[in-house]
Amino acid sequence: MRIIIFGPPGAGKGTQAKKVAEHLGIVHLSTGKMFRDAINEGTELGKLVKSIIDEGHLVPDQTVVDMVEETIANEDYSKGYILDGFPRTVEQAVAFDNLLERRGESVDVFISLHAPDHELIQRLLSRGEGRSDDTEEKIKTRLEVYKKETAPVMEYYQQAGMFRSVDGTGTVDQIFQRILSAIPKR
Ligand code: AMP
Repeated sequence: MRIIIFGPPGAGKGTQAKKVAEHLGIVHLSTGKMFRDAINEGTELGKLVKSIIDEGHLVPDQTVVDMVEETIANEDYSKGYILDGFPRTVEQAVAFDNLLERRGESVDVFISLHAPDHELIQRLLSRGEGRSDDTEEKIKTRLEVYKKETAPVMEYYQQAGMFRSVDGTGTVDQIFQRILSAIPKR
């Protein structure tokens, strides 16, 4: 099972992806977390992306796509995975499709979590994970980047026919149940 969980910053992608991964016994792949780990470890990749992430901008498409390609080639990913934070541009979505096609694979479902802006901002400001990009100014930039560069990814998957829209308001468990209902049964 290959799942994409999609939505603006603060929609609850990370929290829900973790729960879905545990429930289905698949891997949770968060590109944002991979970058933060690389920054904390001081790797070449970490040095390359630190200032971009601190500012709330997007890492170049090719860098992200290469990282995802290398990661999913790992044996742990053969049973499936849930992608959180990728693809974040239409270019990434196209590159990912090509990459899956070469592997003879496809995405099973694209789950789009939505919530009103004021709730997203409130959640990001109060999540207290100490992220350098969770300040009021950087949140504003990230929401603008989302609307301009990331939201068009929804249309791409709507056309491809595996799109599901899920209400991202309410409790973590309510949202989780809605997501489970949106995942096709195998
Ligand atoms: P996230 O943890 O998904 O909120 O991602 C944190 C930050 O990592 C984003 O604001 C971007 O700077 C960077 N990032 C994560 N995933 C991607 C991606 N698919 N494309 C470009 N930048 C990304």
